[in-house]
Amino acid sequence: MTNPVMTKHIDDADETPRYHWWCPGCDALHVFDKRWMMTGTLEAPTFDGSYLSRHNRWNPETGEHDIPLGNICHSYVRVGRIEYLGDCTHELVGQTVDMVPLPAGWAD
Ligand SMILES: [Zn+2]
Repeated sequence: MTNPVMTKHIDDADETPRYHWWCPGCDALHVFDKRWMMTGTLEAPTFDGSYLSRHNRWNPETGEHDIPLGNICHSYVRVGRIEYLGDCTHELVGQTVDMVPLPAGWAD
């Protein structure tokens, strides 16, 4: 069985939905929260605004963390596809790809 591409969780604090999805550009979990409006289905979701994340860079060769000028991930999720914008610093910059199943351990 394939894991879903997105899961919905209700935030305990304010009972608003949070949508978890896996970003193949960052190889990391990203989350849409109440700041976005979701339409469509969990299999083919659309969110009304872009997702923008800036996180600190690390160098896998030296193990150095928190290098300034962090990585940027900027995308739209529309109808189950991820549209990466031109300011992403990962290898999927400028590409549109299908959403990917959440990895084991992240799908609950
Ligand atoms: Zn990302």
